[in-house]
Amino acid sequence: MSAAPTRRVLVANRGEIAVRVIRAAHTCGWEAVAVHSDADADSRWVVLADDARRIGPSPARRSYLDIDAVLEAARDSGCTHVHPGYGFLAERPEFARRVTEAGLTYVGPSAEVIESMGDKAAARRTAEQAGVPVVPGSGVVADAAAARAAAADVGFPLLIKAAAGGGGRGIRVVRTDDELDDAVATAQAEASASFGDGSLYLERCIENARHIEVQVVGDTHGNVVHFFERDCSVQRRRQKLLEEAPAPGLAATLRDEITSAAVRLAAEVGYQGAGTVEFLVEGQAFYFIEMNTRIQVEHPITEMVTNTDLVAEQLRVAAGEPLSVTQDDITLSGAAVEFRINAEDPEQDFFPSPGELVRFDSPNGPGVRVDSGFVAGGQIVPYYDSLVAKVVVHGRDRDEALARAEQALTEFTVEGVVTTRDLHLSLIADEAFRAGGVTTTWFEERSTGPR
Ligand code: ADP
Ligand code: ADP
Ligand code: MG
Repeated sequence: MSAAPTRRVLVANRGEIAVRVIRAAHTCGWEAVAVHSDADADSRWVVLADDARRIGPSPARRSYLDIDAVLEAARDSGCTHVHPGYGFLAERPEFARRVTEAGLTYVGPSAEVIESMGDKAAARRTAEQAGVPVVPGSGVVADAAAARAAAADVGFPLLIKAAAGGGGRGIRVVRTDDELDDAVATAQAEASASFGDGSLYLERCIENARHIEVQVVGDTHGNVVHFFERDCSVQRRRQKLLEEAPAPGLAATLRDEITSAAVRLAAEVGYQGAGTVEFLVEGQAFYFIEMNTRIQVEHPITEMVTNTDLVAEQLRVAAGEPLSVTQDDITLSGAAVEFRINAEDPEQDFFPSPGELVRFDSPNGPGVRVDSGFVAGGQIVPYYDSLVAKVVVHGRDRDEALARAEQALTEFTVEGVVTTRDLHLSLIADEAFRAGGVTTTWFEERSTGPR
């Protein structure tokens, strides 16, 4: 038997997703190299990796966002592949391009595909070409006059969106036309400052919608499959708090339509790697909003209900191998919910709560999975995202998953930082949530503190 070539992946990220990629690499027989800033020198991902490189000081701009430093780490440690994780450089076409130019393989789609989907206004056009319904809206509006003309068609309330926005940022609601001019000016300035691109477009505000997204994966052999959907409607400031799979109460016919629309869009652009196609669903109507060209924070719930390893599939695709499954192999089993445990204080308007994890007793038991970048004694530092852990529970059905969730969240004891755990316990006790199918504004309309 000839030995498989050694593949070595640079994990260009931190926290739980860095740990997740290292695990998948090892299960695929690959080696993994971690990177870290000064603040993360003693981190869990550095310990779990086969090798590690410092890439700079603590501020993300000077470390995890520094393309030169990341590429230098990859070259210096003899890596063959680079996995971007999510956030940071994960949706920057220039990063994918630079990785490829350095003679390494990027774990994800090509720079061209990232570019065409990363610009949300361009992605809407591609969706229309693929026959996928989009939210009624406009192309890029150059100035206030163009925005006024487009708004007359779109109607109020509407959203002004930054074409380059992401992470819940770069979106602004406009309720009446006398608010429009000011909103366009502010949105343009904000988008230029935050994303380096002031391009804006308009979308009708869909007020009673659920956020339902479809996991897709394409390989280099022309296969594109979906792994069903996730419901991520429980949001605060357009950021997800918890997610579940499958979407509760989604009619089978609508599920078929949405999943095939997602596959159609991915196939249209020759998509390779893992990606997520996001939709708003209102009644029986569904509208494309955007595609994320990377692994998603909430991918584990899909892994639980489809019994797959999506990060391993990403690595397989990057190695030029076909997907390990065909569409017919992918079936839904039970229900799963993910709770984002953030170091934030829900009683103080979700103010970040960095500090040492003095206690960190994570739950386990049947159907319970905890993905975290930290162990007891670790530090939640103020420079980055406040995600401490993801509690993921699976059950034969949604009721069993939620019963396991209540037990798991109750067992989860964290001391040293304030977390969103109690908020999640109050959410799963909430009648509206238990009934299933809440909309994207539900959480903010409900009282924000634990009850
Ligand atoms: P997902 O889309 O996987 O549910 P999020 O929307 O929470 O996840 O975003 C994933 C990560 O990427 C988070 O850390 C978020 O803060 C970050 N992120 C996403 N887009 C941007 C962006 N344009 N600028 C800065 N951070 C971003
Ligand atoms: P991001 O790139 O920041 O994730 P999205 O376009 O995915 O931006 O939108 C984030 C969230 O904002 C959605 O999940 C939804 O709650 C809300 N949203 C986006 N577009 C609309 C719309 N047209 N009408 C109502 N809500 C919307
Ligand atoms: Mg989104």
